[in-house]
Amino acid sequence: MSIFLTTVPVEEAIRVVRHITPSPPEEVVPLESAFRRILSRDVFADIDIPGFTRSVVDGYAVRSADTTGAGEAIPVILRLAGRSAMGASEKPEKMTPGSCVYVPTGGEIPDGADAMAMIEYCEVIGEDVLVKRPLAAGENIIFRGEDFRAGERVLEAGRRLSPGDMGILAATGHNMVFVSAVPKIGIISTGNELVPVEEVPTGSRVRDVNTYLCRAFLEQYGALPVQFGIVRDDPAVFEKTLDNALATCDAVLISGGSSKDERDLTAGMIQSRGEVFVHGISLAPGKPTIIGLAKGKPVIGLPGHPASTFIVLMVIARHMVLGMTGNASERPVVVKGILSENIPSAKGREEYVRVRVTGNRVVPLFGKSGLLNTLVRSDGVLKIPAGSEGIETGTEVEVILW
Ligand code: AMP
Ligand code: MG
Repeated sequence: MSIFLTTVPVEEAIRVVRHITPSPPEEVVPLESAFRRILSRDVFADIDIPGFTRSVVDGYAVRSADTTGAGEAIPVILRLAGRSAMGASEKPEKMTPGSCVYVPTGGEIPDGADAMAMIEYCEVIGEDVLVKRPLAAGENIIFRGEDFRAGERVLEAGRRLSPGDMGILAATGHNMVFVSAVPKIGIISTGNELVPVEEVPTGSRVRDVNTYLCRAFLEQYGALPVQFGIVRDDPAVFEKTLDNALATCDAVLISGGSSKDERDLTAGMIQSRGEVFVHGISLAPGKPTIIGLAKGKPVIGLPGHPASTFIVLMVIARHMVLGMTGNASERPVVVKGILSENIPSAKGREEYVRVRVTGNRVVPLFGKSGLLNTLVRSDGVLKIPAGSEGIETGTEVEVILW
């Protein structure tokens, strides 16, 4: 077996990830618990919304034809025929020509009326209402079913429910909501040098950063992270932890040990429980990445350097998490700007350069992959396609924000 990694292009790695990612089962939850969950079915309106033609202002329902030529100096005089009560179960009486009916905001418009004169442009004298502006048909009213028609699709499956969506679910009578079940994804950090966060690392030890990076990433996309802690580069301990993770989770992320050094155990552990499909991606940073199935569950081996881990999570593992959560609508947040410096890049691999965005200037941060500081100093990354030798100063570029 070669001691070098056989790299595949990023698109190929993503294709493999998508292929091995199972679709989530669905479950039904009360509306109160549905916020941020992923809809597993399309949602339809059960009724016309609004269910009646209503006013958007406080004022007087009129026949627009009656207000032709109305002005400050020569108002139109209409007879006040009644009031439309909020929430009434009966329709207000049909309106006759030359009359008007008081309707509060959101109230029902009587038949015969086709516009609302705002209270600000009216004057009441006894039983008469002086309207001082002409109105067009349909002005200041929302027609029955204008918002949504009964049977119309209001939300698409695969959507992560936003506060606005929650309002729509309520308006369309969905007190129970079909959503994708939340996948459990295990996190294992490997390395003899790792110590837990609460310890002060001595000698050549470092704190375990990736557990928390992975955890937050999974939470951000709506998966449930399950921590399996730090595992020494010892096959017996590694094996036990991996088997435990595979038995209790739907997928596993393993950080560290993903290259081909004799101390790198991850690939062998996956292979002995299934198959390694990808070992090495033409991606910088992030080359030593593993994609495989172990006991039928997707496993991604992440490079140990936290900055590389983060790129692999964003570029590769993201597709697994989106697939497993049923999320079909998430798009990276992208901003455009002008590159402030040349970025050279080796042809043949997709490169991600961390950048800072100030105004419309995009400033590359050339950090070594082992450095953590670019993770906090950067606002996002710039993708340099595999076929490019770099990007010149002054080029308009797209930045994927973190
Ligand atoms: P490895 O991929 O195991 O060869 O690790 C590559 C580098 O990443 C080494 O310098 C490790 O110390 C570092 N590293 C690995 N795992 C972690 C982790 N969980 N947190 C912080 N650094 C790590
Ligand atoms: Mg290691």
